[in-house]
Amino acid sequence: MSIKVRFAPSPTGYLHVGNVRTALINWLYARKEGGRFLLRLDDTDEERSRDEYAQAIEEDMRWLGLDWDEIVRQSHRYERYHEAVRRLKDAGRLYACYETPEELERKRKLQLARRMPPVYDREGLRLTEDQRKAYEAEGRRPHWRFRLDEKARVEWDDMVRGHTGVAMDSLSDPILIRADGTFLYMLPSVVDDIELGVTHVMRGEDHVTNSAVQVQLFEALGAQAPIFAHVPLLSGASGEGLSKREGALSIRALREEEGIEPLAILSLLARIGTADPVEPRTSLDELIAGFSIDRFSRATAKFDEQELLNLNAKVLHHLPFAAVRPRLEAMGLEGVDEAFWLTVRPNLKRLGDAVDWWQIVNGPVTPVIGDEGFIETALG
Ligand code: GLU
Repeated sequence: MSIKVRFAPSPTGYLHVGNVRTALINWLYARKEGGRFLLRLDDTDEERSRDEYAQAIEEDMRWLGLDWDEIVRQSHRYERYHEAVRRLKDAGRLYACYETPEELERKRKLQLARRMPPVYDREGLRLTEDQRKAYEAEGRRPHWRFRLDEKARVEWDDMVRGHTGVAMDSLSDPILIRADGTFLYMLPSVVDDIELGVTHVMRGEDHVTNSAVQVQLFEALGAQAPIFAHVPLLSGASGEGLSKREGALSIRALREEEGIEPLAILSLLARIGTADPVEPRTSLDELIAGFSIDRFSRATAKFDEQELLNLNAKVLHHLPFAAVRPRLEAMGLEGVDEAFWLTVRPNLKRLGDAVDWWQIVNGPVTPVIGDEGFIETALG
């Protein structure tokens, strides 16, 4: 079987350590197994998706060294999703619903008050032709739900979680198409995974329920579900969620404000949440060699910024001259040589610190006429 994985960010913000971890796991798996890595931009939410973020994602991925074999944008593939919609409608698996968000919320509250699970009551399935027409005459437009097979229990052998199962009667039929005709995440993802030949879907544990729904969508579209791996989400050093700190932990901020090396970020993200120790890696090849998806555990992975800073120093202390030379030259260290690098390297926390050392070693020497008329020298 030829392996194909994908990393599917939504271009609604910058990449941060959380989604880069998902990207990295997919990338390492592909590179280790000789598979293909697809970068898919999930940009069907046209209001929130922005071109500048899509470009930033590509830029950040390149900076990290995570190259892709193929790239697609969902906004270029609407025709394919409409085709799938026709098939689901023909099979009686997609049905129109007319409730407003407020009406849905009211139903939910009522169910909770009656101690019932807040599962959609499938009113849309029971509408008569006349009721539908009446709604349309009021100016309402339908949203569309996928009719789950609620009697099933969807099960799979997850590469990280082991045997996983979801009772489908605990879930609401998911909305696939909004009332304004735009697609939510669920269907386009499955259509792409099928048509682009994705064999392994590796992503955060927050998608376990989506996976169960998607297994039924794969089947409804006549395809077989891929192999899943759901990794636990990242938390902060003391177990807190990271979502509020996404800005500070964006790849951009780590690069531009903190001066962090790509290999420090990758070395840390490749190992937290696994049974193996974090080690400074100085090449992508080393990272690939040290990777195994079997080592990921079900425990949350703790991301500690201090650990990243320490690791950054260690990575620098091991980087060969060839790996940093062009960057040192770009910082103005003209004529920098290996001897200089090997001398200052153990003192660096960030590569930018090398500029100060360069000044100390080679800075322009300004002659100063001393009080007694002697010529003294001072570092410029
Ligand atoms: N765009 C989705 C997300 O970022 C992709 C999830 C998936 O991997 O299918 O959550």
